[in-house]
Amino acid sequence: MINFNDTKIAFEYKSTSNLKQSKFLFKAIASNGMVKTGKALANFALKINFPIGWAIKPTLYQHFVGGETLDDCEHTVRLLNKYNVKSILDYSVEGSTDRTVMKATLRETLDSVVHAAKHPNIPFAVFKPTAFASKELLTRIGDNSDLYEKEKEGKAFFENSVEELCRTASENDIPIMIDAEDSWYQGYLDNLIEKLMIKYNKEKAVVFNTYQMYRTDRLEYIAAQLERAKEKGFTIGAKFVRGAYMEKERERAALKDYPSPIQPDKISTDNNYDAGIKFAVDNLEHFSIFNGSHNEESNLKLAELMAEKNIAKDDNRIWFSQLYGMSDHISFNLAKAGYNVTKYIPYGKVKSIVPYLIRRAEENTSVAGQTTRELALINAEISRRKKEA
Ligand SMILES: Cc1cc2nc3c(=O)[nH]c(=O)nc-3n(C[C@H](O)[C@H](O)[C@H](O)COP(=O)(O)OP(=O)(O)OC[C@H]3O[C@@H](n4cnc5c(N)ncnc54)[C@H](O)[C@@H]3O)c2cc1C
Repeated sequence: MINFNDTKIAFEYKSTSNLKQSKFLFKAIASNGMVKTGKALANFALKINFPIGWAIKPTLYQHFVGGETLDDCEHTVRLLNKYNVKSILDYSVEGSTDRTVMKATLRETLDSVVHAAKHPNIPFAVFKPTAFASKELLTRIGDNSDLYEKEKEGKAFFENSVEELCRTASENDIPIMIDAEDSWYQGYLDNLIEKLMIKYNKEKAVVFNTYQMYRTDRLEYIAAQLERAKEKGFTIGAKFVRGAYMEKERERAALKDYPSPIQPDKISTDNNYDAGIKFAVDNLEHFSIFNGSHNEESNLKLAELMAEKNIAKDDNRIWFSQLYGMSDHISFNLAKAGYNVTKYIPYGKVKSIVPYLIRRAEENTSVAGQTTRELALINAEISRRKKEA
């Protein structure tokens, strides 16, 4: 079927010097020690307001980020579109506690929604809950704590922001995805997002929740949600991911002495992920599916499932997606074969994007084989080009 090892297709959009830069970067990331030291230095520099752009911009930032503004990303959006890969521009500010910053983020995110709606190559808008409420506040809401007046205001600001983003998406006819972060306040978000699905997903999926399949309870949640969707007449917008915060989840569960919400091992997460996707495909009349994964097998399985069920490769209810700067071999080979593919492209100022970059660097060190795989593919393409020259 699809051959993910076709490096010619995978890297057609990259010049040989770009490829060599990527090789250099992934080699650095492969060194666990370097990432740990880099993380500590970056966090320290941020704390004392020391400029770190000079170190990060030509390396991690250039590889994983589209630019500082929507306009900066246009070059990348056009380049990817030449190969039928679409873009999702994600204004990456997270974890802020300052209301002025949150208001500015809201304005920028609203702009990104309208920009996506007008742009033929940007099929989705996206945002992160922690852009509009602090983690502390979301945690207190998740715990059902009695909120102080100021916190009540923060909660109202958060809910109004989320509502305004979804309403704007609906009015502009562009789907919008809400990223998932920590499990301990996701229950509150699930309820909020489902209300928005009921409101805006009457004819098709506009509002998408994110289901982290490393969680043990997600399959059950989705199955129960399907029953509510049938009863209340809404389409479930389902972005599937494995989940990016495993260590933190397990540490908190151990510290607070509750059972870990995370699958016991990788294979259980993999099985749960594929089962979630299969469940949604089996019930496609009630779902729109967004498959956010760098796992070759999961991507292949979805493609095979679509073939088995005679679902057109470009059926608008099924999208594949990888992060910009990772797994081009999956994105570009799927796009070449005719599937709907997007790259998630974060944008924003260096300082605000550091947590995202640290996560990508850590993920590439901790996920067994990921960096090795990127390096092997880059090396294969560099030698293929040498032979061809
Ligand atoms: C387009 C896109 C959007 C994303 N949006 C979000 C988001 O909103 N929220 C979010 O949390 N993440 C998000 N992610 C990241 C995602 O959750 C994963 O961390 C990342 O993609 C790696 O998983 P993978 O499916 O690509 O495959 P793989 O590399 O095969 O899987 C790695 C993942 O498996 C799980 N895992 C690894 N070891 C174990 C273990 N021992 N026990 C149990 N599970 C294990 C972890 O989830 C780990 O991240 C997104 C990813 C993409 C591509």
